Formats: sequence, C-alpha cells, structure tokens
Amino acid sequence: MPGIYLHIPFCKHKCTYCDFTSFPDKLAFAEAYMACLYKEMQLRAEELKDVTFDTVYIGGGTPSVIDPAYIYGAMKQIKKLFKLSKNPEVTIEMNPGTVNENKIATYKRAGIDRFSIGLQTAIDGQLRELGRIHTVRDYLYCTSLLKGENFSADVMLGLRGQTKEDVRKTIAIAVGSGAKHISMYALTPEDGTPIYTQYLNGELPDGDEVRELYDYGYSLLKEAGFVRYEVSNFCRKGYESRHNLNYWRRGEYIGFGVSASSFFYGRRFTNTMNLDEYMKCILSGFLPVVENEKVEEEDAKFEFVMLALRTAEGISAEKYKAAFGSDWRDDFAVAYQKTAQYMVTEGDRTRIRDEHLYVQNQILIHFAP
Ligand code: SF4
Repeated sequence: MPGIYLHIPFCKHKCTYCDFTSFPDKLAFAEAYMACLYKEMQLRAEELKDVTFDTVYIGGGTPSVIDPAYIYGAMKQIKKLFKLSKNPEVTIEMNPGTVNENKIATYKRAGIDRFSIGLQTAIDGQLRELGRIHTVRDYLYCTSLLKGENFSADVMLGLRGQTKEDVRKTIAIAVGSGAKHISMYALTPEDGTPIYTQYLNGELPDGDEVRELYDYGYSLLKEAGFVRYEVSNFCRKGYESRHNLNYWRRGEYIGFGVSASSFFYGRRFTNTMNLDEYMKCILSGFLPVVENEKVEEEDAKFEFVMLALRTAEGISAEKYKAAFGSDWRDDFAVAYQKTAQYMVTEGDRTRIRDEHLYVQNQILIHFAP
C-alpha cells in the first residue's frame, strides 16, 4: 500500500557529512513553510482521493526541531485530506538534542507511533566531530521518554578513528535503550561536505575496514536477537519499517515538501530543492515539481530487481511476473548467470546469500541497463 512522506528541512546546525536538503539558518521560516506544506497536500488531495495510504514518514532535516504543533497540524491535514489504512504506521525522525516530554506527548496525540532517532555513535567526541548537536546523554534522555514505544536508532560506521570497541559501545547503548529497530549504515563522504576533505586526505577508514566494523556490528545485533531484513536495517521480529519495505517493494509513495520525491502512476517526480522557489510556487497555487519522468519498462524491471535484492526476503518471481508478465531470470539472463553463485533460491524467492549482502552493489551492477 502506498506511503506519504513529509520533508521538514530545518536543522539547528549542519552536520559535517550532510548533503540532505536541510537549512541550519532558516528556522524563522518554519511557520510559513508548514503553511505551504499543508497547501501542497490540498493541491494533491483531489487526485489522491481514492488511494489508501498505509504509512506516513516525517523526515528531514530535523522534524523535531520545529514547534510540535506544526507536526500535529500536518497530521491533522493528512487525516482530513487522505484515506489512511486502519492501522497506519506513522514515523517521525528525531534528533536527540531537540526533544522534550511535551513534544513526544504532542506527537503521540497526532497519531505518531514510531520514532526514528539519530544516535549515530555513542562516543561524544565523534558526535562533536560530526557536528551533531547532541550527546549520548541526550540520546538516553530521549529514549527514557519513549519507554515501551516502537523506536529505531541510527548507527553510523566509517567514522574517523572508529574502532570495534566504539561500535560495541554504540550498539550496546542502542539495544540497551530499548530500540526495536536499528539502522546501521556506512558513512558516504559526499563531495562538497566538510567530511569529504577527511576522505580525500585518507583519514577515514577504507572499504575493508568499514566492512569489518559492519560484520562485527552485525554479529552483535544477531546475538542481541535482531534480524537483518535489509542490508542496513535490523529489527526485533515484527518491527520492520513498513514505510521502507514499501520503497524496496517498489510501492508507490507521495512526497510533500521541498526536495521531496514521489513515485506514483509509473512516474518519478521531484519537488524543487530551493526553499524560496518551493514556497513561491505553492503560494501561486502550483505544484513545485521540477522533474517528472515516466519510468520506462527496462528501468522499472531493473528497479524491481535492484530494490528487492537489497532485502533479506529477496525477489519474488511471481510478483515480478505479475508486474511485468515475464520471468526475471530470462529478462536478466546474462546477469543472473554471472551472479548465480552469490544467490540462493528457495521456492519462489531468490536472494543474495547472507555473507554477500553487504557487497550487494558489486553484484547488482551486473543488472544495470
Ligand atoms: S541533523 Fe540530519 S539533516 Fe540535519 S544537518 Fe545533521 S544529518 Fe543533515
């Protein structure tokens, strides 16, 4: 079932590795921006009136940096304009440095039932170096307010000087805090970010070192009872992120807000990344879409295979056939033959073997059009 994504682009401070659309100096625009976001939903309401959405994901930026009343307002607008499933999954991303009791109470009143918290590392010195505004203590305070709730913690690998012991401490804190879900992903040094200089100077761990940290982290998570259901995502049984599963199953989703992207009606479309342009467009009654393209069949097939093979459930031959009318092993005969040694097939499903999932990019490259 389709999902809704809302982008809240404000942050207190820009992290050194961040290349998301996030503005550390524009918090004063939050009220005007949220009014535009509500209006954008209105502009889409008629065309989406027959769709039932199963998930809402409020991401950013730092959604928890703005007044929680705006988040409440956004959820009210969603419930007014769109149909939600009986038991929707509603997630908000939170930075532990921006949370208090009142915010969490307001989120819960708004219907939010899943919280995604950016821990990143349990070493304060590394948090400072990343430009994060919070400490480990802030994380512990934040999770103490979420006792018994469904929350996820982000853990980052590949930081300067990061050791296995650092990873052990971080995972111990995340698991010990009661997280039901952990996203453990490798830092990608993007050109134009301050951390890219460290990368160019060879100061960050290389690919093999990150792989070792990942394997170690994975073994600890397994020991703690977490299951890997996607290359970077681990959870206690039954706590998979439905919103993300929908992405990996190539399900439809609609994005609202600056730079938000969507996949609907077989088309991928993206809003402008420019905040002024976004607001001007909406205030003039237009959708702020700057890219809009139909996904051609060849690309659609590749997307289906590539997204499915990132997950532990792998690709379903039956679902592929239902979508495209053919057998994926015939459509990708050469690539399939080349990579068969890394795959395992059980019944209808083929997946990348557990030990090769981390390097899935090197396997998936063979399937690219
Ligand atoms: S909190 Fe997130 S979105 Fe904001 S600057 Fe840091 S990494 Fe980027």
